[in-house]
Amino acid sequence: MPGKSRKIYRWDRIGLVLGGLALFSFGLAAWVAPEEEEEVGEILAHPNHIELPTPVAAIELQELEVTAVAKPELEEVVLPCSCNKKVLKLAKNPYTDHRRAARNLPNSFFVKDKNELNAGKRNGKLAEVKDGRGYHISALSHSYAVLLPEVKELLKDLGNDFADLLVGTPSEGTRIRVTSLTRTVKQQNRLGRRNYNAIDEASTHSYGASFDIAFTDRPDNEADCSAPTRAMQQVLSQYQKAKRILVIPERDCMHVTLRP
Ligand SMILES: [Zn+2]
Repeated sequence: MPGKSRKIYRWDRIGLVLGGLALFSFGLAAWVAPEEEEEVGEILAHPNHIELPTPVAAIELQELEVTAVAKPELEEVVLPCSCNKKVLKLAKNPYTDHRRAARNLPNSFFVKDKNELNAGKRNGKLAEVKDGRGYHISALSHSYAVLLPEVKELLKDLGNDFADLLVGTPSEGTRIRVTSLTRTVKQQNRLGRRNYNAIDEASTHSYGASFDIAFTDRPDNEADCSAPTRAMQQVLSQYQKAKRILVIPERDCMHVTLRP
């Protein structure tokens, strides 16, 4: 008798446990699923500092995740557009022509060192160059942001014409990046053989007659590089055909010299 009653008692217990387990797992399945999605949404959204509205359905959360992850990445990195012989098709003017032009420009003189450069600034033969419409000066390590006054005017005109071409397009506000201007002999020597023009002892950069353009910088990723690159091509070839500039398309930049 005690053994039989023990058996009945056990069946009851097993039934109760099984029933409880079944109910529990159903409840768990229904309850855990949306909770998991909410957690994923929070984890992905937080590093990007996206504020989620409080009562959102699971599907809406998933849609937000996509925009939250993709958008900041694109906005933060705006790659520059290259400006060199690989992307621009321009005739190469021989370097001897560049040198002749540099020496024959009004105000032109050989900017041997820092003293010569400062003297040039004082007597108005060299003009300081700052960012302007359609162009900006990159951080310089091997040159000074000065040019012959006529060459500065050329850069201003180039910038304006470049900017004009992009007005009203998604690329409006793109700027030419000037990467090198006037170099003293010391700076020229430090460049060594890394730069084509440094091979020549008297670089046109040492006359305040030339500048290099290596990139164009877009304000954001709204448009790709095609419009700025086309505009650069158009402006440079226009100036070259009008015999206002001489150009050497280089591996990593466009070398531009004003013609007298
Ligand atoms: Zn150059």
